[in-house]
Amino acid sequence: VSSVEATQAHLDRIASVDGKVNAFLHVSTDALANAKRIDERRAAGESLGELAGVPVAVKDVLCTIDMPTTAGSKILEGWVPPYDATTVAKLRMAGLIPLGKTNMDEFAMGSSTEHSAYGPTKNPWNLDRIPGGSGGGSAAAVSAFEAPLALGSDTGGSIRQPASLTGSVGVKPTYGGVSRYGAIALASSLDQVGPVSRTVLDSALLHDVIGGHDPRDSTSLNEQWPSFAAAARAGAAAESLKGLRVGVIKQLDSPGFQAGVSQRFHEALQLLTEFGAEIVEVDAPHFEYAVEAYYLILPAEASSNLAKFDSVRFGLRVTPEGGGTVEDVMAATREAGFGAEVKRRIILGTYALSAGYYDAYYGSAQKVRTLIQRDFAAAFEKADVLVSPSAPTTAFKLGEKLDDPMAMYLNDVTTIPANLAGIPGMGLPMGLAPEDGLPTGFQIMAPARGDARLYELGATLE
Ligand code: GLN
Repeated sequence: VSSVEATQAHLDRIASVDGKVNAFLHVSTDALANAKRIDERRAAGESLGELAGVPVAVKDVLCTIDMPTTAGSKILEGWVPPYDATTVAKLRMAGLIPLGKTNMDEFAMGSSTEHSAYGPTKNPWNLDRIPGGSGGGSAAAVSAFEAPLALGSDTGGSIRQPASLTGSVGVKPTYGGVSRYGAIALASSLDQVGPVSRTVLDSALLHDVIGGHDPRDSTSLNEQWPSFAAAARAGAAAESLKGLRVGVIKQLDSPGFQAGVSQRFHEALQLLTEFGAEIVEVDAPHFEYAVEAYYLILPAEASSNLAKFDSVRFGLRVTPEGGGTVEDVMAATREAGFGAEVKRRIILGTYALSAGYYDAYYGSAQKVRTLIQRDFAAAFEKADVLVSPSAPTTAFKLGEKLDDPMAMYLNDVTTIPANLAGIPGMGLPMGLAPEDGLPTGFQIMAPARGDARLYELGATLE
């Protein structure tokens, strides 16, 4: 098929189902023209990459010069950035066709996409259920065949958890492996941009396009990455996993997880054994504190990152009736522009960083982060990869956890440790839970810079 045909087919699909799914906040008006240009270049004999002409959805946290970028917030409604995120620029350079911007929890804070200022995204498997979050829009778009590929961002699970809840593949690369330039920051020491797709090879191809060193991101790794597509192809051709040590983290194989999730996870372990892998149990004693540490470190960094939304530099400006000082305008703007979850985290983060409390909260959380990194280092002495369910449950009902932030936060228990340690993680489909018929996810984690291992094993299992 030509790029124009593929793009038109996805635009048609968006037009017919997105009224129900609400995966897109904005649909590109240039997609067809861009597709036509790729078809012309190909017809002229230009040699283009494997993904040239393929449509892709972009999470609305990534700056796009030709489309509004809101990060799911009212405070940025209608804002069109003056530049592209590096990952978006790389998509365009490789000839991919941006289809539009996908819905997300406001500033990527959430696990259900219900915290978007533009209404929740629905899970295509069951429209009464959430698609996960914060990147529920990207995952739902892929799962509903509105896009074959999407970009997400993962600070505590926002690629892997929605991928799992929608039966998709999603990868959080090694911290520094993919540029954060132009990705609206949530927590800078945790954020990574990564691929969402329906197959492991598709994520690998997309990762090959967006990855690599970027001098505009000071934490970008200056590293020669192997081809992840080659790793996925080698995995798909592999006949055995003989000699591979697969570590099961005791703390992430909890009896508290949904029964069908645990059942599918243990079946997957059985499959690994049949393929010749050796299953080893590993202990990560500090994982017990990972969610708590994360929900201090993240709000601390977020409260600092969100200080730039001050009514002067970007987006919304609300002037109180009768006027007021600069501070009054700033306060009125932030009051109107930020949702409840964003305010909750700004207050929490500001408190955790304040004089007198800094050591007790932020300082302690950073120490826990180091202990979790050491747990991982010890675990990777015993195992080549670590595995767990991607999320403790399948997709929950819309509204179910909306009034209970703690219950929402606990859904991140399986994904947060990888972000705290900066290591790569993949979520891939693990079958449907027998009790509700909804997708479950299998998570693979590898040591930092070992992203290729995820693609190799993921493609073997797929
Ligand atoms: N659910 C997590 C949170 O609310 C994940 C966020 C993310 O990865 N962007 O912080």
